[in-house]
Amino acid sequence: MKTMFKKRGAIVIDKDRCKGCGLCSAACPMNIMSRTKTEVNAKGYLYSYQTQPELCVGCACCATVCPDSCISVYKVNSSVEELASAVTQLAKIKLRGRTTFVR
Ligand code: SF4
Ligand code: SF4
Repeated sequence: MKTMFKKRGAIVIDKDRCKGCGLCSAACPMNIMSRTKTEVNAKGYLYSYQTQPELCVGCACCATVCPDSCISVYKVNSSVEELASAVTQLAKIKLRGRTTFVR
C-alpha cells in the first residue's frame, strides 16, 4: 500500500528559555500554542507548548514573534507516524530561532 505524504510543520521549543509572554500563542493561525497552567520551567515561568502538534503547518509565525528566539521551526514531508519520529530527533538538535527545511 502506498503511504500518503504531506508537507507538515514541526517546532521545537526551548522551554527553559521561554518567559511565558504568550506572543507565540497570539500569533499562531492554527491556535495550537498554549502555556502551562501550573508547571514552571527552570526560570520559574509558565512556558509555551503545542496543544496539537499534528496541526502545525510550519508557518513560523510563532518563531518570528518570539522575543527570545526560543522556537525552531521545521518543515517535513512525512506521514503522521514519521512526523512524530522526526520531532523526537529534531528535539535533540540544538538549532535555535531559525527555520530549517528537512527533506
Ligand atoms: S509554525 Fe505556525 S502553525 Fe506551527 S505552531 Fe508555529 S505559528 Fe502555529
Ligand atoms: S513568544 Fe517565546 S518567550 Fe513568549 S511564550 Fe512564546 S516561546 Fe515563550
